[in-house]
Amino acid sequence: MKSKTDHEVIVVGAGVSGIYQIKLLTDLGFNAIVLEGDSDLGGTWYRNRYPGCRFDSESYTYGYSFSKEVLEEWHWKERFSPQPETLRYLNFVAEKFNLRSYMRFNARVKSMHWIEGLRHWCLNLDNGDVVTTRFVISGMGVLSTPTLPKYDGMDEFVGRSFHTYYWPKEPVELEGKRVAVIGTGATGIQVISAIADKVDSLTVFQRRPNWTTPLNNSLITEQEMAVIRARYDEIFANCSESPNGFEHRPDRRGFWRLTKEQRTELWSELYKTSGFAISAANFPEIFFEVEANKEMSDFIAERIRERVKDPRVAEKLIPKDHGFATQRLPLETNYFEVYNRDNVHLVDANEEPIDRITTKGIQTSDSHYDFDLIIYATGFDAITGAYEKVDVQGVDGMSLKRKWEDQPNTYLGLSTSDFPNMFMIAGPQGIAGSTNFPRAIELGVEWITDLLILARDKGYTRLDVQSAGEKEWHEETVVAHERLLSRNSKGWFTGYNSNVEGREEGKVRYHAYFGGVPSYRKRIKHAATEGYKFFDMS
Ligand code: NAP
Repeated sequence: MKSKTDHEVIVVGAGVSGIYQIKLLTDLGFNAIVLEGDSDLGGTWYRNRYPGCRFDSESYTYGYSFSKEVLEEWHWKERFSPQPETLRYLNFVAEKFNLRSYMRFNARVKSMHWIEGLRHWCLNLDNGDVVTTRFVISGMGVLSTPTLPKYDGMDEFVGRSFHTYYWPKEPVELEGKRVAVIGTGATGIQVISAIADKVDSLTVFQRRPNWTTPLNNSLITEQEMAVIRARYDEIFANCSESPNGFEHRPDRRGFWRLTKEQRTELWSELYKTSGFAISAANFPEIFFEVEANKEMSDFIAERIRERVKDPRVAEKLIPKDHGFATQRLPLETNYFEVYNRDNVHLVDANEEPIDRITTKGIQTSDSHYDFDLIIYATGFDAITGAYEKVDVQGVDGMSLKRKWEDQPNTYLGLSTSDFPNMFMIAGPQGIAGSTNFPRAIELGVEWITDLLILARDKGYTRLDVQSAGEKEWHEETVVAHERLLSRNSKGWFTGYNSNVEGREEGKVRYHAYFGGVPSYRKRIKHAATEGYKFFDMS
């Protein structure tokens, strides 16, 4: 039953998850490597180089917590770190622990097949290599499969065009250019705000506006950084006790026990506070009760009206189809002020749908617009997209893509039955998609590592979760999801993506766990202390 494999463990992806996972495995003496499709490490922070790309988690809550040395040595320069600084940080961590020596770049995994007789996984890479491993751990990410719209003529455009995820490494000339941005999610909002004053003209094609509130970024001085360093234990303890993995805590005074003036007082304060305070330090009722959410949405709509000079444009920027923070909330820096500029034009793609892309620009139902550059900020096939790009076959050649066609099914977001010895950091139905990412993935990485230690100690070469465990977790995921008003919204939290077949409106995918960090942590700890009862191990 035992085969000689090239490696005991292969980690797929050298992003935030893969970096921490390889650190733990190699510290423990596992024969492990990371395979990365890109030419360098960083994952999301390697890829997303568009102007304006930055954290919306406070930088010092986003960094790894595992190394006192890293915490002592690294200075976060801004409260919300921009992409280049974050990429430098990940390189700093990898170099400090010599992790690059375990990473193979330009090594994209094309297929992963479970070979039952040999109890190993066989991986085919697109560079032609074939490698075998006893265990495989996916760190492929939740937002790593960009999706483009399907307009006729996209290949005919003679200017430059790309998805924000593929923003080129070399500088992109913006000065004097006529630029289009399609999409107004978190990415579109960041890129629009960052380039509006650099281009000749900017035309934003908006299909559905998003609620968005100020990021309130600022620099972090040496002195402030010293205070943060002294508080790190407290910071991480706070994050692990909050539902979303941030320091912000919900206001539990009771929405209806306060007066409207008192609620407005809190919201006015939160609007000036940094990061996700506006949602995470808000009244929990706004996420569960229509009336409470409506009052909050009205408050934010008023702020938009105050900031946008043209009332007709302001109305177009106010979402009417969903309530505040019932989709993933983007955070902005001077976003609404962009629409007060003479060189910026908002096209409502509902009133004036895009017909096609032409050689010179974009043809809508009403007009033709000439452009030099088209930026697609059109989002991702979230959470399961990365898995579906790889031909993953488990027991008896079962296809993972087919298994998850209707709904992804996993046990705790960490493993899925009939795919033995395969684990997922930030997998479907985990919490990484719905919380401060590193706070979530540390839990997953450590849980998986503990299980591999157990397997090594006991000599187990096959670990497979039972479908009963999966069924139980699926039910918990559904219950947590259905409590929230966001259950009705059309964003990637509910699996919606108009550019992917089968992900259109009307069919919810329960692919993220919304029960919060503390209950998730308790749940996975319990699974370990009760002896991994849903795992068949031999
Ligand atoms: P997104 O939230 O899915 O937004 C995609 C946008 O493109 C939406 O406005 C969508 O409109 C529009 N769109 C898609 N297809 C279109 C089409 N065919 N025609 C016209 N418009 C189209 O994607 P995203 O902005 O890339 O953000 C995804 C996630 O990445 C975020 O929610 C966040 O979790 C993460 N992110 C994080 C940060 C950060 O940490 N600071 C920054 C950026 C992104 P509809 O709404 O009508 O579908």
